[in-house]
Order: sequence, then C-alpha cells, then structure tokens
Amino acid sequence: MWAKWLRGIVLKIYYPMLMLLGAFFKDKKESFQRHVINLNNSLVLKQGIKTQRILLMLPHCLQIDKCDIRITNNIYNCKRCGRCGVKDLIGVSEDKKLELYMATGGSVARKIVMDVRPHAIVAVACERDLSSGIVDSYPLPVIGIHNERPYGPCFNTSVSIEKVTAAINALCP
Ligand code: SF4
Repeated sequence: MWAKWLRGIVLKIYYPMLMLLGAFFKDKKESFQRHVINLNNSLVLKQGIKTQRILLMLPHCLQIDKCDIRITNNIYNCKRCGRCGVKDLIGVSEDKKLELYMATGGSVARKIVMDVRPHAIVAVACERDLSSGIVDSYPLPVIGIHNERPYGPCFNTSVSIEKVTAAINALCP
C-alpha cells in the first residue's frame, strides 16, 4: 500500500516539479524523465502486483520503415519476417497470453487502456511519452521501458526484449 501511495507522490508532485526544472535545463529533461520512470518501475515492483490481465503497449516506430504492412489497427497483421522487433514481441505476448496493442499516440494509447481495462501495463515508448503516460494512468500500475533510437526519434526504434520479458515475468503470477 505504501508503495502505491509513494508512487502517487512521485508522479503527481515530484514529476511536475522536475518538469518545471527541465523547462530551464532542457538538456537534462530526458534524464529527469528517465529517473522518474525508473523510480516508478521500482515502486510498481514493490507493490508486488500479480495478474494475468497485462496490456503490452508498443509504439508504432518499432515497425521498420521498409515494412508496408499496416499493423497499427491490428498488430497480428505482422507477417513475422523478423526484420524488426515486432515479431519477437508478438511471440512474447502470445506466450504469456497478454493483450498486445500498438499505439500511434497518447490519445490512442488512452483509448486502448479504456477499452482493454488491464490490471497492469508494460509500456514501451520514448521517455517523454512514457513518463506522461505513466502519470496519466496512475493508480494503474505501469512498468515503462524506454526504446532505443539509434536513427533519431520516432524512426526504426528498437527495445530490449530481455527487459520487456523481465517486466512481464515480474507481473505474471
Ligand atoms: S516483423 Fe516483418 S512483417 Fe512484422 S512488422 Fe516487422 S518488418 Fe513488418
């Protein structure tokens, strides 16, 4: 109970204060967001939540730009060719029987959460979208994993499948 309460303090008080600071120190903003995501994740783990009803939410930029299959409406349209990480993420999701969705933005992500009504979320996104999404979703437990962006933001990104699997395993009974 204390971890949930403390998470509320971190997300609703500490985070806005850090973002205010980030408005003055713009080069530090992303590290502030990452710090809050890490704090949130440890507190979610401390809550000891165990549930089968997990939503795995992915950003559209994980799909490689060379792939012209439309997977935003239905990620299972993916042909699993392995040119991008979507194939393995579908595999993990099927293995653990998760709800798996791809969001193209914050409002779509919010609608998915409202429709699916998960008991916990594992979310992949950039630090900015993750931190704001985690704050918006509170008290719902969200473990956030930031994506890797070797080609810049929102383009051919990737994510550590090990980190995603570890987060899911921590929530699964
Ligand atoms: S795994 Fe292949 S088919 Fe699936 S989204 Fe990636 S590139 Fe497209």
